[in-house]
Amino acid sequence: MSSTGSWDVIVVGAGHNGLAAAALLAKRGLRVLCLEKNGYVGGMAGTREILSGCRNDVGASLLFPLAKSVAEELELARYGVETIELPIMAVNLNSRESPPAVFYANPLRMALYVLRHFGVGAMLGFVRLMAFCKYPASLMDRFTPRSVPPTLEELLARAPNARRRRQIELAFGGSAMDLVDRFLPDRERHRTLRALVAFAAVQSTYKGPFTPGSALCLVYTFAQGEGGGLMRRVKGGMGALSEALCRSITEKGGELRLRTAVRRILVEDGRACGVEPLAADQAEERRRLVEVRDHARAASSYATGRASRRAPWSRTSTSRRRSSAWSAASGSTRTRSRAWRRSSTAAPTCTSCSSSRGCRSTVRRSST
Ligand SMILES: Cc1cc2nc3c(=O)[nH]c(=O)nc-3n(C[C@H](O)[C@H](O)[C@H](O)COP(=O)(O)OP(=O)(O)OC[C@H]3O[C@@H](n4cnc5c(N)ncnc54)[C@H](O)[C@@H]3O)c2cc1C
Repeated sequence: MSSTGSWDVIVVGAGHNGLAAAALLAKRGLRVLCLEKNGYVGGMAGTREILSGCRNDVGASLLFPLAKSVAEELELARYGVETIELPIMAVNLNSRESPPAVFYANPLRMALYVLRHFGVGAMLGFVRLMAFCKYPASLMDRFTPRSVPPTLEELLARAPNARRRRQIELAFGGSAMDLVDRFLPDRERHRTLRALVAFAAVQSTYKGPFTPGSALCLVYTFAQGEGGGLMRRVKGGMGALSEALCRSITEKGGELRLRTAVRRILVEDGRACGVEPLAADQAEERRRLVEVRDHARAASSYATGRASRRAPWSRTSTSRRRSSAWSAASGSTRTRSRAWRRSSTAAPTCTSCSSSRGCRSTVRRSST
């Protein structure tokens, strides 16, 4: 699509959620424009080249279980997303006297490891814990998109007997430590294993293992085989997934512009009708601010007085003049928004998003 056309949809932000929405809308035939303030795609699910040849995840690095139908709808495989199964999910090191607790993704391998290093009691406890998780995990229905999950009351009403009801209550309302105490009760001999299981329950949830409800996180972690299984890595870093979504968007006629911050969403008669981009030099200053913050060497040279005493991101009178010239030349907000909706031509085309090794999709970078 040419950049002079109007858009059915403008997506603000090329994080993986914005990109997924844009990709699905483009797939349904809508004309989509995605605006991203950073110079790379993916937001917290992006991967950047931090040193020459070394790409590093910005935030997210592990792909949580993804419904097969969602992966298919987003055509992740078609656009080159490859995932890597992890044989080992976590290792807990305790003391020299105690063997490490290794969390193998394969439950059989894990059970054998527990038997060899922690004894029959621990192995039986672990196997019973896995068996306990199976029923509540089957109720979670976490992989049926566009379905409203049942309420706890509905689950309890559907339970076939009192034993299952108690199991649901414990799994959905109890704490991870309730389960740990029940299945691995020996505080000395099972110590390392108890810590491993408690950690598996609370990672990424910001709860403690004694918090009511944290038992469900444990069930979620051990809920293998119900579709999806454990976390995986994305080949090339998490950003490879975001970059694949970009390829999908641009191939379907959508457009992505980097370094294009949106200042305001314009609303007419209660409906969003366009966006107002951040003025060119304001955006440039923000970009420099982020880059300077990121750049430890620049920061330390400034601190030791080797750089100019003026902070690189402080507004100069020239930039202030340019800013007002930009607004004056651009006319009123509404005129500017029309300009964005109808004839934005400022952006030169580039062939990669975050790095020369990254996404090869054709994206547009604003002249800011
Ligand atoms: C340190 C860390 C580790 C994590 N680890 C994991 C993990 O291992 N696995 C996992 O599944 N999740 C993880 N997460 C969570 C996951 O990264 C986020 O939930 C997810 O990336 C959010 O995606 P999003 O698209 O909603 O938002 P974001 O990633 O925040 O994307 C929003 C985008 O919008 C852009 N934007 C914002 N305002 C504007 C504007 N005005 N104009 C233009 N663009 C704009 C931003 O620049 C950004 O690119 C982690 C998060 C963090 C912080």
